[in-house]
Amino acid sequence: MKTNILDKLVSFCYGILNNGIDPSKGHEENKNIQRLIIFIFFGIGVNLISALLNCLHGLYLSVSINLTSILLLSVSYFLNKDGRLFFAKVLGIITINLYLFAISYAEGLRAGEHMFYFPFLLALIFVIDIRNSYDELIMTAVVTFITAAMIFIMAPYVSNVQNISTELYSALFSSNLSLSLVITALFTYYILKTLERNEDKILEEKKYKDTIYDTSLDAVFIVDTSSLMVTDCNRRALEIFGINGKDAVIKLSARQLLGEKMEEHIVVQGKQSFEKKSPWYGNMDFVKKDDTPFYAYVNIVPFLHSDISYCKISILDITEIKIAEFEIINAKEKAEKAAQVKSRFLSNMSHELRTPLNAIIGTTNIILHEEYLPTQRQSFEVLKYSSEHMMQLVNDILDFSKIEAGKMELENTPFNMKAFLQKVVTSFTAPVAAKNLSLKIAIEDSTDMEVFGDETRLNQVMNNLLANAIKFTESGTISLEVKIVKRKSNSTDIRFAVSDTGIGIPPNKIRQIFESFTQADIETTRKFGGTGLGLAISKRIIEQMGGNLQVESTVGSGSNFYFTLNFEITKQQKSYVDEDKLKQLTELDGVKILLAEDNPINMIVAKRFLQKWNIQVLEAENGLKAVELFYLHKPDLLLIDLEMPEMDGAQTVEAIRKTHKDIPIIAFTAATYENIRQDLLSKGFNDYVPKPFKPEELHKKIMFYTSTPGFLEHRQAS
Ligand code: ADP
Repeated sequence: MKTNILDKLVSFCYGILNNGIDPSKGHEENKNIQRLIIFIFFGIGVNLISALLNCLHGLYLSVSINLTSILLLSVSYFLNKDGRLFFAKVLGIITINLYLFAISYAEGLRAGEHMFYFPFLLALIFVIDIRNSYDELIMTAVVTFITAAMIFIMAPYVSNVQNISTELYSALFSSNLSLSLVITALFTYYILKTLERNEDKILEEKKYKDTIYDTSLDAVFIVDTSSLMVTDCNRRALEIFGINGKDAVIKLSARQLLGEKMEEHIVVQGKQSFEKKSPWYGNMDFVKKDDTPFYAYVNIVPFLHSDISYCKISILDITEIKIAEFEIINAKEKAEKAAQVKSRFLSNMSHELRTPLNAIIGTTNIILHEEYLPTQRQSFEVLKYSSEHMMQLVNDILDFSKIEAGKMELENTPFNMKAFLQKVVTSFTAPVAAKNLSLKIAIEDSTDMEVFGDETRLNQVMNNLLANAIKFTESGTISLEVKIVKRKSNSTDIRFAVSDTGIGIPPNKIRQIFESFTQADIETTRKFGGTGLGLAISKRIIEQMGGNLQVESTVGSGSNFYFTLNFEITKQQKSYVDEDKLKQLTELDGVKILLAEDNPINMIVAKRFLQKWNIQVLEAENGLKAVELFYLHKPDLLLIDLEMPEMDGAQTVEAIRKTHKDIPIIAFTAATYENIRQDLLSKGFNDYVPKPFKPEELHKKIMFYTSTPGFLEHRQAS
């Protein structure tokens, strides 16, 4: 029970003494609030004791002065509690001054009330934050001294207003003297303690900063910018530069220690006007005490201390980072070289693989166009399918490695979007019918426009999506929907969607199918074949065209692959191939073509087709022979292989172009590389036909070049 009351009393006092303290106000402000509370309670305490004594002695005027002072000090306490620290302080100080004046006047100087000025002055030092409010202290001291002076001038020696006996005066004097001495002693003790605590704190802070300074991994030097002498450094600096103790450092100049370059930087920093000074940072070389050179990141920061301008120089050893950087650059160069070798290897491989494949495909085509035993048809079909499939694989792998190396460049040539889509649809009519599927086509008529783009690559994507749709659908419908989603005067956004009612793709495989060599499940490979490269290539192509290939699919119901691309629209122009003429000119009677080809099988394959169309063929097995035959027989068109002995395709064209600028020359090649079309055009070719060639494509190109008005005129004339 007892302890309970005691606890309550302690917490009540604690509450009163901490009234107004709030952690959010910050340490300094709370300290000032608490000091004022102590000051006020001392004042109230002294007033209470005096009031009590005065009451005993019948000095009622003094009692009322003490009570008034208590009242005013209480107001000051409440102001302080409410956060009005400044007003509380002013009121407290004025109250004490007025009190001392009034009580000295009412009791006379002989009572010794003015002796309370000693503890009062000490209390002022304690209450006012001297470090931060020097002006406040001066003001208060002046007011206090004036009041004190007024007391000595105005107050009577013995009271005129109260009747005080000599004995009472001596009692009052001794009690006031003792009380003021006790309070003075208490405040003195308190102030000394505070000073000691502050000093400890300053030392602690210095120790803390020294620890930071000395544990830094940067070597830090302080240099006086006018004398250029080092004035201080940290432990790391001593270690790295091998200096024997900090004392040795002050005998060294910045140049001796850190070199001429560093000195120049410091001089520059020293010359700049202080407001405009900005730190310097960069990399520099130094030598350690054991003579090992090291590479460092340096920053030089100017600062002022006691009106002297200094530079703080931080030096961080980054040799290891530099070595790592060097190794990364080396590794990158090696990787780039390896990629180049790989790319070259793939390009050579492509040529090597495509040439024999071309021969196989070509020969198969010839046989299928000619007579064969009925029992052989199936074998030839298999041969045709397998060789074309293999060609597709080679092309896919080449394409993918090209994309991976970031070397796939898109062409930007004009083509008619609707005509392109119709060609795509035509090529898929037969495979769709073969699987008894129905084909639903929804191509907007407004796609009938000339746009800029890479027709070949777009065709590759559409082929892949449609081939997959057919491959993974056993029954139902394959749909192709193409529509304009946005149309501006010079560009258009077209959305392409290929959907099917096939097996669908499980949700957890959706992301994987766009990765290289990945299929939805192993069964797929067994059942349907494929490499898992098609979608990876298609996605990258569409991305490079500025779109995003996406899919929505439900297992068992089917899939929908879609993407939107932006195309620049060309000025509407007529298709450069006259379709009517194309139909009329299936037989190319009388056209004379010079065919330059070093591979005998390729030569046979191409010649067979050309002769089928009643074309007169001149054969040259190398470039030299081709030039010779050209001048001898003046053919209408040249079909020239790129890689030939004696004189290659480009050299052959160069020789012929010297005299004949207009003769159509078509490159006939198995090679594939970046910007092949532009490259060949720049070498003097008019066009190119990739090998293995599609007979219709070759026919179309020959027909195109031999039916232009210029050519017809030339034919009629000859
Ligand atoms: P490939 O068809 O040669 O395997 P792709 O990259 O074209 O390679 O396709 C990757 C995989 O995505 C396929 O193996 C198949 O599992 C899945 N896939 C692609 N298209 C479809 C589709 N229309 N329906 C169901 N699955 C598909």
